[in-house]
Formats: sequence, C-alpha cells, structure tokens
Amino acid sequence: MIRFRLFGFPVTVEPWHWAILAFLGGALSVRDSEQLLPVLLFMVAGFVSVLIHELGHALTMRLFGCRHIAIVLNGFGGIAVSKGARFTRGQQILVSLAGPFLQAACGLLVLAALIIGDEVGWTGGTVGLMSDFFIYVSLAWAILNLIPVYPLDGGQALNGVLGPLRIELTLRISMIAAIVAGAGIFFVFKSILFPMFMVFFAIENYKALKRVQSPSGPW
Ligand SMILES: [Zn+2]
Repeated sequence: MIRFRLFGFPVTVEPWHWAILAFLGGALSVRDSEQLLPVLLFMVAGFVSVLIHELGHALTMRLFGCRHIAIVLNGFGGIAVSKGARFTRGQQILVSLAGPFLQAACGLLVLAALIIGDEVGWTGGTVGLMSDFFIYVSLAWAILNLIPVYPLDGGQALNGVLGPLRIELTLRISMIAAIVAGAGIFFVFKSILFPMFMVFFAIENYKALKRVQSPSGPW
C-alpha cells in the first residue's frame, strides 16, 4: 500500500490498482523482459491519468467547501471521498463531471504537445510511448466514465440532473445504458473486462430499482 499527499489530499494506492493496470497493459502476454517495458510504461501512464481524474473530483469538492477529502486508487480505478459531504444537485453534477473532464483535457494537452513535438522531431522512444498510453487511457477512461450508468460519473451526473424524485428513471436509464454499452464494447472491441463490469452494474441497478419500488422489502 502506497500513501502520500497531493495538493493536501491524502492518497492511498491499493495493490489492486497496480494489478488492474498491469492486466489492462497486457501483463498476461509478456514473454520476455523486452515486452515488460511497455506494460510498466502503461502502468505509470494509467496511474498518473487516474490520479488526475480523481484530483478533478477532489478539487471541485474542496471548491464547494468539503473538508477531509481523501483519494483512493483501487481495483476499479479510483474514488475521491469526503466524509459527510452534502451537495446540491448542481454541485453534484459539477463534482461528477470534473474528474473525466480534467482527465480528458490533460490527455488532449499531451496529444497537442505530441503533434507539435512530432513536427520539431523530439517525439518517439520511451517518453513517446508513455505519452501515447497516457492519451489513450485518459480519453478512454474519461469517455467510459461519462456513460450514464450509476455509480459511474455519468450516472452520478444523471442522478443530479433528474433529482431524487426521479430515482426510478435514473436507475432504469442506468440499467439500459449498462447493457447497451457492455454489449457494444464486447462486439466492437472484443473486450471482456469492461462488459463484465457493465453486467455487474446492470444487476446492481436492477436490485436498487426493486428496493426503491418496494422500500419495505419482501419480508
Ligand atoms: Zn470519476
């Protein structure tokens, strides 16, 4: 477990965070030490990118008066939490969107730097490869998080837009979006991990919907 402070926020990096980044970076197909370097570069780029994402949430929470904000990077990516935080719907939307937007903005900044660097001939090599990974992770992570599936950022923002009185509608949209996104990514990219998360989220949203529809429970 790694712990440090960044902009005053305590940051904890759980071992599962490295494991998921290694898996996404292709660690399972490494055959020799030469193939190990791209995986390590992917892990560093992914770690920095996800940290920036969570910083986006944390800095916006601080802007709205939250104290005791902590960042945890875990097997699902990361989370920024504040004890007893209460947001208005507008603040909830901004806090949710700040993470993916800051992350995507940083990805686009590095992309712009690479395009300029390409023209003056200083790109390529290890830094170039890590920059490519950073751009890829930042844009993909930000876009996936903006899918309106609760509890992803897009789902949290949707909850802020529709409000607590329309929680059933939020959960229904979440369920459908999870199924559509999971199936779409499975058929287009042949990826297994993300669709698995989407199936999990669809089931959790379905269970939450049943709880909301019968708050006293079946017993
Ligand atoms: Zn987020």
